[in-house]
Amino acid sequence: MHELIVDLHIHSHYSRATSKNCDFEGLYRWGKLKGINIIGTGDCTHPAWFAEMRDRLEPAEPGLFKLKDEFADPIDASLPPSVRNAFIRFVPSVEIASIYSKGGKVRKLHQLIILPSMEAVSELNARLERIGNLKADGRPILGIDSKELLRHALEVDSRALYIPAHIWTPWFGMFGSKSGFDSIAEAYEELAPEIVAIETGLSSDPAMNRRVADLDSVTITSHSDAHSPQKLGREATVVQCDTNYESIIGAIKSNDERMVGTIEFFPEEGKYHSDGHRACNVRFTPAETAAHKGICPVCGKPLVVGVLNRLDTVAAQYPGHAPRDTKQVEYIIPLSEIIAELNGTKSTAGKAVTEAYHRAISLLGDEFSILRSVPVAAIETAGLPLLALAIERMRTGQVLRDPGYDGIYGTIKVFKDAAERQATANQMSLL
Ligand SMILES: [Zn+2]
Ligand SMILES: [Zn+2]
Repeated sequence: MHELIVDLHIHSHYSRATSKNCDFEGLYRWGKLKGINIIGTGDCTHPAWFAEMRDRLEPAEPGLFKLKDEFADPIDASLPPSVRNAFIRFVPSVEIASIYSKGGKVRKLHQLIILPSMEAVSELNARLERIGNLKADGRPILGIDSKELLRHALEVDSRALYIPAHIWTPWFGMFGSKSGFDSIAEAYEELAPEIVAIETGLSSDPAMNRRVADLDSVTITSHSDAHSPQKLGREATVVQCDTNYESIIGAIKSNDERMVGTIEFFPEEGKYHSDGHRACNVRFTPAETAAHKGICPVCGKPLVVGVLNRLDTVAAQYPGHAPRDTKQVEYIIPLSEIIAELNGTKSTAGKAVTEAYHRAISLLGDEFSILRSVPVAAIETAGLPLLALAIERMRTGQVLRDPGYDGIYGTIKVFKDAAERQATANQMSLL
């Protein structure tokens, strides 16, 4: 039994708006830097990416795949010893967008499918090829009812895991305000019992999801939806089990004690947490939106209703429902964002931030260890006292939250402003 950090929602360089280094080498390198053990391949329906999967990966434990040594060795040689020997496996996965009309409304849903073998991928691809174009986008857009897509996944391999993705996002979530449904049964009818897990998305957390009785029986999972390897593990799922497909996916499906919990963004950081209009510079709480009857005071058009507001609406179907949650939830801020704040810059891509990031990894281990478990005292001792303080504040939830809305990320900070940060730094250097 091992603790495994799992990230099943990622994209390859064949998906729109992704980074060129979304290849297996990039995913492997960043998986080790981040401390992720099980990574979905993403995009397994794309013919060229599937060819790369078969070329770069080889079978390891049952249902899991490893990067062949000839590709892994040069990367390992370039990694700091602190992360070089980390354990990484891949599992075939894809996110599929379905667009269809049901109940007189246009529905647009994103869903993840995880499969235990290359043969299952071949079979799924053969079926979906007849429905739409798999070559145009690593995340294919298919005119298929999500329920029928679920049926295909289960027929291809009964061990498949199907997860409605980022279920609250306005346009593409199962419960989204624009083109979603109000219940699992409305979307999946007789196959509703086969929905055993959902993905929270960045803008919601498990506590929010547990307000909805319809989700009582499903497992709450989190993943990165990374469009570049640096974004791997923005959120992740933690399991404690044997290292093979059956155990890992079984932990998620059963939600038993092997399913430990999730690693989450503070939900305010997500792009659709609050309501608003980005072009109009309007950001509202649900109460403010209600006071304006859902209409933007600047342009007069309907506001984009965010995740928090939509959750209130769906949860209102279950008055008196007592949320229950027994799984571990850890809130994180990506290490590069913490370092950018400490450096007084907004961008996480600058040279100084990148250097400081890699220095911290070399000194202390992978990113998830630094964020989750390295003792604060050890971070101090490594010569990073301000980082130690920031991590302590993050771990105890002492953060300042500026919520995202209408596609703009929110920001989570550990210092009020530059003055507080500078005063703290000065104080530390005196000590
Ligand atoms: Zn999506
Ligand atoms: Zn507006």
